[in-house]
Amino acid sequence: MSERLTADVAIIGGGLMGCSAALALRRMNLSVVLLEQGWCGAQASGVNYGGVRRQGRPVVQLPLSQRAYAIWQRLPQLIGSDCEYAISGHLKLARNEAELASLEDYRGQADGFGLQLEILGREALRQRYPWLGENIAGGSLCPGDGHANPRLVAAAFALAARNHGADLREGTTVESAVFDGRQFTVCAAGGLEVKAKFLLNCAGAWGAKFAEQFGEQVPEYPIFPNMWVTEPMPKLVEPNVGIVGGGFYVRQVARGNFVLGGGRGTGQLAIASTRPDSAAMFASMRMACEFIPALRNALVIRSWTGVEGALPDHQPVLGPSVTTPGLFHAFGFSGGGFQLAPAVGEVLADLVAHGATATPIEAFSIGRFNAAS
Ligand SMILES: Cc1cc2nc3c(=O)[nH]c(=O)nc-3n(C[C@H](O)[C@H](O)[C@H](O)COP(=O)(O)OP(=O)(O)OC[C@H]3O[C@@H](n4cnc5c(N)ncnc54)[C@H](O)[C@@H]3O)c2cc1C
Repeated sequence: MSERLTADVAIIGGGLMGCSAALALRRMNLSVVLLEQGWCGAQASGVNYGGVRRQGRPVVQLPLSQRAYAIWQRLPQLIGSDCEYAISGHLKLARNEAELASLEDYRGQADGFGLQLEILGREALRQRYPWLGENIAGGSLCPGDGHANPRLVAAAFALAARNHGADLREGTTVESAVFDGRQFTVCAAGGLEVKAKFLLNCAGAWGAKFAEQFGEQVPEYPIFPNMWVTEPMPKLVEPNVGIVGGGFYVRQVARGNFVLGGGRGTGQLAIASTRPDSAAMFASMRMACEFIPALRNALVIRSWTGVEGALPDHQPVLGPSVTTPGLFHAFGFSGGGFQLAPAVGEVLADLVAHGATATPIEAFSIGRFNAAS
C-alpha cells in the first residue's frame, strides 16, 4: 500500500522534541506530518528520571532552559495537564569544601539568569532537611526547579499536537530523506511518502544517522542511564536531590515512591534494547543511602533504563543544517533534554516560520563538528 502526503513540515521522531515542535508549529498554523517508528514518547522522553532542573546546566544552556521554565508553568493551558509537575526545589549536595566551592563558583557563573541559587552550609542544610545524613559539607538550592512524570509529558504533548491538527503517524519508520533543492521527500516503511518544504530531525539517539544522510557527520553515541523506583514510603523528601559529580539523584513523588538514578546501563541501539546495570545501580543506591539514611529500608520494586543520544561536549545539536536549507536538527541532548524540550519545540517553530529565533543557540550548532564538506 502506498500513501502520499504533503505538508509544510515533516518531523522525524515523536519524542518530546518532535511532539513539542509539532504543537508549536500547529499553533503557527503550519501543516505538520510527524513520523514515529514506535509510539510517541516511548523512548528517552517517556522513561527518563523526570528532573525539571536548571541548576547545574552549562551556562550556554540557561537561556533555552529559562524559556522552557516559563512554558512548564503553563502546561495545563498548553497541553491540558500539569503532568504531575511539582516545583519542589533542586538541592545539589557537596561532600567536601572543594565541592562546595564548585557550587559557589557555579552560582557566580549563573548569576543574572534568574536561578536564585542559595548556598547552604552544613548546619543550615541539616536544620532545613533533617532527613539528610552526616557527611555533607553543604549544598546549593534552586528553589524554582522541580520534577514531573515523564510518562505523562510526551504523551500529553503528542495528544495536544494531534488535537491541534498535526498528523501523527506512529509505527512508521523513516527509511530515507532527501532534498531536491526545492523540497524534502521522506520515505517510510509501508510505502508512505511525505513531501515537505521543511524537515525536522528529532530522532533522538538515532539523530546522527539522519544528519549523515545530508552530509553532516556528528559523533553521537548512545548512553543508558540507570533508573529505579522504591515502594511507596512516608512522605519525607521535598526537593529533587542530586550530588556534585552526579553519583546519584533522587526525588520522592506524591504517592511516596522514591525515583532514583545513577550510573549507566547497557544497550544496543540497532535493536532498541536496553538493560539497567545492577552493579552500578547498587553502588549508586549505597551512596544515596549514605546521604538519605531513610532509604536504607526501602524496597526497590522496578529498575529500567532508556537510550539517549549524547555528544562529546555534552551539548545538543540544535539549529539549522549547514548543508541543506530547510533542514533543522534537534538531537543528542546528552541526558538533559526533558526540561528543555518545551522550549526546543518553540525554537524549531521559530526557525521554520521566521528563519531565526530570539533564544541563543549558536553553541549547539552542528557546524561545530566541521560537518560541511
Ligand atoms: C533514563 C534517562 C533519564 C533521563 N533523565 C533526565 C532528566 O531527569 N532530566 C532531563 O532534563 N533529561 C533527562 N533525560 C534526557 C531526556 O529524556 C532526553 O534528552 C529527551 O527525552 C530527548 O528527547 P528526544 O525527543 O530527542 O528523544 P526521544 O524521546 O528518544 O525521541 C526520539 C524518537 O525518534 C524516533 N525515531 C528514531 N528513528 C526513527 C525513524 N527511523 N523513524 C521514525 N522515528 C524514529 C524514536 O523512536 C524516538 O521515539 C534522561 C534520559 C534517559 C534515557
